[in-house]
Amino acid sequence: MTDGSDISVSIEDASARAEKLRRELRYHAHRYYSLDAPELSDAAYDALLRELEGIEARWPELVTSDSPTQRIGSAPSGQFAPVRHSQRMYSLDNAMDLGELDAWLERVEREVGDRGCAYVCELKIDGSSLALTYEDGGLLRAATRGDGVTGEDVTANARTVKSVPLRLLAGGPVAAQDSLFGNAEPWRVEVRGEVYMPKESFERLNAEQEAAGQPPFANPRNAAAGAVRQKDPAVTASRDLATFMYQVVEPRALGLQTQSAALQWLRDAGFRVNPDIKTCAVAADVHAFCEWALGVRDTLPYEIDGVVVKVDSFALHDELGFTSKAPKWAIAFKFPPEEKTTVLREIRVQVGRTGALTPVAEFDPVTVAGSTIARATLHNEDEIHRKDVRLGDTIIVRKAGDVIPEVVGPVERLRDGSEIEWQMPTVCPSCGSAVWREEGEVVPRCTNAGCPAQRLERLGHWASRGALDIDGMGTEIITRLVEQGRLHDVADYYVLTKDELSTLDLGRTKKDGTPVLLGETMAAKLMASIRASTSRPLSKLVFGLGIRNVGSTVAEALTAAYSSLEALMAASAEELAAVEGVGPVIAGSVRAFAENPENVALVERLRGQGVRIAEERTAPERPQTLAGTTWVLTGALGSLTREEAGAGLKALGAKVAGSVSKKTSFVVAGTDAGSKLDRAIELGVPVLSEAELVDVLETGQAPAGAAL
Ligand code: NAD
Repeated sequence: MTDGSDISVSIEDASARAEKLRRELRYHAHRYYSLDAPELSDAAYDALLRELEGIEARWPELVTSDSPTQRIGSAPSGQFAPVRHSQRMYSLDNAMDLGELDAWLERVEREVGDRGCAYVCELKIDGSSLALTYEDGGLLRAATRGDGVTGEDVTANARTVKSVPLRLLAGGPVAAQDSLFGNAEPWRVEVRGEVYMPKESFERLNAEQEAAGQPPFANPRNAAAGAVRQKDPAVTASRDLATFMYQVVEPRALGLQTQSAALQWLRDAGFRVNPDIKTCAVAADVHAFCEWALGVRDTLPYEIDGVVVKVDSFALHDELGFTSKAPKWAIAFKFPPEEKTTVLREIRVQVGRTGALTPVAEFDPVTVAGSTIARATLHNEDEIHRKDVRLGDTIIVRKAGDVIPEVVGPVERLRDGSEIEWQMPTVCPSCGSAVWREEGEVVPRCTNAGCPAQRLERLGHWASRGALDIDGMGTEIITRLVEQGRLHDVADYYVLTKDELSTLDLGRTKKDGTPVLLGETMAAKLMASIRASTSRPLSKLVFGLGIRNVGSTVAEALTAAYSSLEALMAASAEELAAVEGVGPVIAGSVRAFAENPENVALVERLRGQGVRIAEERTAPERPQTLAGTTWVLTGALGSLTREEAGAGLKALGAKVAGSVSKKTSFVVAGTDAGSKLDRAIELGVPVLSEAELVDVLETGQAPAGAAL
């Protein structure tokens, strides 16, 4: 991939890449604009378009007139009668971040000089553009944007959209026009805006599609565009579309001098205008609006993909003018894309502490949602084949939940045949031992328990913050200690001496050629950290042992039930599986750990070296008279909150659950108790009043008739 900034790229390579990108972008633009069935996300499409723009900016001789960078939308489909727009329908230039927005604001301010400039900030509604022409106040024609010059006549469909006025409001601006133009000639006005599908309607529509065995729509924008371009207006009518209008064409003919006045005119004429529009007297306020919009984006009932910032004064619009595609007096600030494209360079296999082999994609660094990423887990071989990612592929990456880097898949059509299919190695990349994939499992594992990579991971896990938290014991030091034969397993941490540590060779040399040693100060610090780690909570220790399937939450559940490692390791699979939050699989893993003689020896050594493997538990303050009972609280309680009631019951050893089942011992019904009470009656679960509950909490006595 090249964005034009890589100086080592030749014009021949750039030209070939540009041609490929153009072909690809044309294909996707057709799917998007004409078929309303995109295959790529908008962010991925934009990323490819940006790459092409980068190449064309560096080598202007490569620009072609039919390049997707020079065009808007796509030609009308031929399904509808063509409509030539009275004035071109432009696209908008994008600012991909606040820096680009500032650059645009500065350009405008420079142009405007001392006169000052106000801006109108509007939400960028993610729908489809619609132009509505009215004649003598009645809807004459509705058209899509098409390629900006010619659109499609969708009047019959637009008439079914409830917020499209079939007649402009009498009074208000219409009356003003009557007096302005008289009634001699038909009076026409064209307005433009966005037709969109609310999120809720989109979800309903996709559920219906699914139920009917039809493919779902990719997003509300395409669903809206598709609904407007239906052959049968009855289908459009059933799709629950809405509109926000934001432009009056030829506003000066109506005496309107600013965008804010035009928006008011639209409201008065009966159009739906977005309520969240802000006029900013100075450029500095524009940022705040963009940040506000980013914050409320997910709470809005419709999709937005940015903020459109427009110069307010129409006189300044004339001065600023247009590029071939977009007005210079407006910019679309696009929200940070969650997806980017990059090139997959390598798939590296990591060996985990349980020997699991995990392929990790390494790609050219890209900034996604505010941070730079260069690698992402591919989870397992099946996933790689399912996604069909190959070395050298242009891939789409994103951050799942905006945090974890993820490879979405390849852009297959950008392949040139040089991409290489990847195979999982049959031997461990760390120790060369055979790898084994158990039946029914997707993850192969290195079979060598002494595998150095596994050992490093296990040692690192033990020292990590979530486990025993040996502050300062990082990968570099652990690796050196392992290489020098001082660390084999986690118990070895506790036989390290200060001298050993201070003289540890870090494998680097000083300027004078002498080796860099860890030194006295660091050694002393590490010794203190190691000492501190001997008395961590038992749950941290159980987590640190790296038992398969035992994460930190499970470790907490296990140690809530067992107060020593010995007791935990002596528990039967049935006993373990009965612990809340622990099932037979985890119970099996704990048993497998406990039955391995090496682990038994390890635990013995840990104890011998003073690591605390049991916890003193303070006795519960109240007798556990409700132990073994499960309670459900429903309805409103008068004298105490539900939280207080729950805490009171738990202090007596009860469990408090959220729903009623056969296992429920008691249901406490407050006022307005609903379905949970019905269910309790249905199942014959004893129901207590609030007064009875208070009695139980005060006396600590289980209710009469309790089957404990
Ligand atoms: P655009 O949608 O990014 O911006 C221009 C449009 O914004 C206008 O035409 C108008 O309809 C709309 N808009 C919404 N609110 C507005 C407001 N308040 N004021 C003014 N205009 C407003 O640009 P575009 O040229 O229509 O399309 C480009 C978009 O289409 C990109 O986001 C691109 O990712 C997407 N696209 C995706 C694919 C794909 O395969 N996924 C293919 C082609 C295009």
